[in-house]
Amino acid sequence: MTVSEIVANARREGRTNLTEIESKELLASAGINTTKLKIAKSREEAISLGKESGFPVVLKIHSPDIIHKSDVGGVKLGLGGEDEVGRAYDEIITSVKQSQPEARIEGIAVQHMARPGTEVIIGMTKDPQFGPVIMFGLGGVLVELLKDVSFRIVPLARRDAREMIREIKGYPLLEGYRGQEPADIAYLEEMILKVSEFVDNNSEVREIDLNPIFAYSDGAVAVDARVILEER
Ligand code: ADP
Ligand code: MG
Repeated sequence: MTVSEIVANARREGRTNLTEIESKELLASAGINTTKLKIAKSREEAISLGKESGFPVVLKIHSPDIIHKSDVGGVKLGLGGEDEVGRAYDEIITSVKQSQPEARIEGIAVQHMARPGTEVIIGMTKDPQFGPVIMFGLGGVLVELLKDVSFRIVPLARRDAREMIREIKGYPLLEGYRGQEPADIAYLEEMILKVSEFVDNNSEVREIDLNPIFAYSDGAVAVDARVILEER
């Protein structure tokens, strides 16, 4: 589907929040690297999609009504084979039905388990005064606990992307602190610029959250993505 088809489809359903698969399709069209996923409608289909993508895999709830998937027990990681996928499928459905009974469950998303990397996030929100603003930070507990993030106003120049990565306190982690795998900083700069360009070209996007992105010494990949559209 194209960007306008995805947006039109969500509008038709009266949604402003896009699902992970829709969000990743939009961002992939802007050249942003994401883990690919497919939607299973049954346990059997989840198993065959797991085989197709190669174990280990990750299963996640696919619902237009659920934004924070882990909060409702909707994410199962590191599933090594068919039995584990089958069990995880049932567990996710049970857990989601318990924690959010009114949520429409449209399937379970299956994707390959990405190799661990340094977790970073790239986000976009709209400031009432400055308009679209891009945020960069370290992912996981570091962002929640320390709010170690930097901001720049869209459209970003290459220099903005360079600076915003280097000015976070956790920057030494990205350089390879104490034996940690160094991150491909040039690649992250490029990713930030692509998000900025995407935002600049798509005014109906209100919010973007790439959380987390796994950064490697060679490239990076967004394993989760959330796009929210403007109300009409
Ligand atoms: P949530 O909607 O709760 O933010 P996520 O899709 O971010 O759900 O998944 C929760 C966590 O699971 C992520 O923070 C990440 O650490 C891990 N994760 C998600 N997808 C993958 C993947 N494809 N490969 C490896 N780890 C993943
Ligand atoms: Mg997430």
